[in-house]
Order: sequence, then structure tokens, then C-alpha cells
Amino acid sequence: MNLILLGPPGAGKGTQAKRLEERYGLVQLSTGDMLRAERASGTPLGKKVQAIMDSGQLVSDDIIVDLIAARIDRLPKGKGFILDGFPRTQPQAEALDAMLARKGLKLDRVIEMKVDEMALIDRIAGRFSCAKCGASYHDRHRRPHQEGVCDACGAHEFVRRADDRPETVKARLSTYRELTAPILPYYRAKGVLRTVDGMAPIDQVAAQIETILESPGAAPNG
Ligand code: AMP
Repeated sequence: MNLILLGPPGAGKGTQAKRLEERYGLVQLSTGDMLRAERASGTPLGKKVQAIMDSGQLVSDDIIVDLIAARIDRLPKGKGFILDGFPRTQPQAEALDAMLARKGLKLDRVIEMKVDEMALIDRIAGRFSCAKCGASYHDRHRRPHQEGVCDACGAHEFVRRADDRPETVKARLSTYRELTAPILPYYRAKGVLRTVDGMAPIDQVAAQIETILESPGAAPNG
């Protein structure tokens, strides 16, 4: 089963991708995480994309397509994946089709996570994560049980993404509206697009996605 989670920044794609990894044994492929890892290791690519990412713009299609192609190529045979944050433009969507066709793979579902933009700014601007294990938190909605201590691993250090500042979030949302939302009709026409209410609580969103994946025509284990 190969999926795309599609939605604006802060829609909860990463959170749901992690759940799907656990539930169905799929692999999350997040282009944002890949780019952040390049930056953290100080690679030439990481340096090149730094300013673009921090301004809320998109990295060029060529760079992203190469990055994701290399990851898809390395997947163990038969292992399904969840694309999180890719594709984000029409050329990326078309490059993905070509990539999958070359490897004899198909896209089973594209799940659109629909959310209210005003709520997103609040969601994103308050989020932070554990510097050690990556567990995610929010200033108002999900604080650690014990102040300053990660619930998952007990670490004491937390980080915030540089591009989660409100002004950058606005730029990322308009990038989504202008370049990414227009690829929805492409997937609708292919008959693979399904929509969930991303404003619902995390468990309910997960349940909506499971219902979609377990309905006829989508086989999680197939
Ligand atoms: P994300 O974590 O998915 O919100 O991605 C963080 C940033 O990485 C984005 O704002 C872009 O600058 C860059 N990025 C991630 N994925 C892509 C992509 N598919 N195409 C272009 N830029 C991307």
C-alpha cells in the first residue's frame, strides 16, 4: 500500500504518518525531515536549502525529486510507503508517477487532510518537539506531563522549528494554496483522492484514515 498525505503545514500529516507506520508497517517518507537532516549534518545540499526553507518557500523540484527517488529506490521490496510533504507541485506529482511506473509500483490512495487556516497558525506557532526523540508537543494543547521533561524518553531539551514563526507560517500557507492545492484535481481525476477532516482530534482523524484504507479498493496489506 502506497499513500500520499496531502495538506497544508500543520494539518497533522507527520502525526498521522507515524500512526500509519505503526499500524500497517509502512515507511514514512517526509521530504521536510530529509531536508532538515541534511541541514543538521551541514551537507552542501543542507546549506543550499537553508534560506529557502526558513523563508517558507519551496525547494526546487529537481532537488526534491532526486532526494525522494533515492529513498524510494532503497526501500525493501514489497514495503509500502506514506509520502508526507511530497509531492507539493504539479511537476513533482508527474515526476512521482514516472518514478513509480519505472519501478512497477502504484499509488493506492491520496488522503487530503482538510483544515481551517486560522486554526493552523495557532497550531503551528505553538508546537515544539523533544530534541532527542522527536516526540511532539504544543504550548497549549499538548504540554509534557511533567514540565520540561519529555513524556516519551525523559530528555530535558526541546526544539522549535525555525520556519514555525507566524510570519513564515503565513508564507508556507500561501505557498500551499498557490502551488500544492492545485494538484488535488489531478488525483481526484485518477480516482485515488479521499478527504478527511483534519480539524478533528488526532484519534478521530486516524480512525477516518483507517476506514478509508480498509474500504474496498484499498488493501493495507496488499
Ligand atoms: P515540511 O516539514 O514538509 O513542512 O517542509 C519544510 C520545508 O521544506 C518546506 O517549507 C519547504 O521549504 C521544504 N520542502 C519540503 N518538502 C518539499 C517539497 N516536496 N517540495 C519543495 N520543498 C519542500
